[in-house]
Amino acid sequence: VFIAFEGGEGAGKTTQARLTAIWLRDHGYDVVTTNEPGATKVGMRLRAILLDKETTGLSPRAETLLYAADRADHVANVIAPALDRGAIVVTDRYVDSSLAYQGYGRQLPPEEIAEVNRWATGELRPDLTVLLDVSPQTGFGRFASPADRMESQPMDFHERVRRGFRKLAEADPDHYLVVDAGLPQEEITRLIRDRVREILPD
Ligand code: C5P
Ligand code: MG
Repeated sequence: VFIAFEGGEGAGKTTQARLTAIWLRDHGYDVVTTNEPGATKVGMRLRAILLDKETTGLSPRAETLLYAADRADHVANVIAPALDRGAIVVTDRYVDSSLAYQGYGRQLPPEEIAEVNRWATGELRPDLTVLLDVSPQTGFGRFASPADRMESQPMDFHERVRRGFRKLAEADPDHYLVVDAGLPQEEITRLIRDRVREILPD
């Protein structure tokens, strides 16, 4: 079982992914938690390039390919081996982040981003994607100041990212749970558990 958490800045993905993993482990499941970008050795170096504010002038296509390279390494070295041994994999960000940030945010054709990522991942798709939907205003209100190169993008960029995520979820409702990230944390956790229960093996 492969579960992805997606959403904009300050949506609470990391917290909810962690809580989901703890809950699954308490129920006896073998769970691997992971995140993008930067889950592998090479990935950490790609993450540094991608998020360093000193990185200037990186073209949107190059950015797309670096995220895709990180993801290819992530699938090959972390996600696929874990799924092969029967573990549940919970990832904080996956392909939808590239569709939303590099597609809708950078305004590259989403279908082209999808194609690059189908190749990078060998077409591995999540069984369920939890989209924590948050307005950029609310999300950014949750931390002090923009920490990295992507967070430093203008508000209209983050508005497009949010709309992108929502479009992806609307196009494929069977594979998504969309949660209002403005709800109380315990309520969000409960909604996620109710949905995840439906896809668990016995
Ligand atoms: O989730 P986290 O904040 O650690 O992700 C790192 C950053 O990478 C995010 O701020 C996000 O804006 C950016 N990102 C991106 N494109 C992706 C994945 C992440 O711009 N495909
Ligand atoms: Mg961030």
